Amino acid sequence: MTYEVEKTDEQWRAELSPAEYQVLRRAGTEPAFRGEYTDTKTAGVYSCRACGSELFRSTEKFESHCGWPSFYDPKDSTAVELIEDRSHGMVRTEVRCARCGSHLGHVFEGEGYATPTDQRYCINSIALRLEPAEG
Ligand SMILES: [Zn+2]
Repeated sequence: MTYEVEKTDEQWRAELSPAEYQVLRRAGTEPAFRGEYTDTKTAGVYSCRACGSELFRSTEKFESHCGWPSFYDPKDSTAVELIEDRSHGMVRTEVRCARCGSHLGHVFEGEGYATPTDQRYCINSIALRLEPAEG
């Protein structure tokens, strides 16, 4: 898989903070309920912190009480890439930025949330940057 934005591991290390690098480039997970966007209701667009690609909108963000920002749909279906993840003895679906391949979080389905898609994109705050809407 090649991405529109390709950088060496050294470049990513230099550009990202150690905590950002750990999540985005090492598929880490930030602690629950600590991320800066967990309960954010500000209107705007959430972009990839690694490459700036627009990934999610505040209009698809919902309160899942799971401890991470949760969205029921990406901004555009092509903005994210979904990959089967069999790490940690579970089968999950990893969510990556389709432009730079950075890890964002996981998507879960059929949990019974009252959302239009019944999907929960469980995304690390540190993988995102909120661009508040004008006005
Ligand atoms: Zn990206």
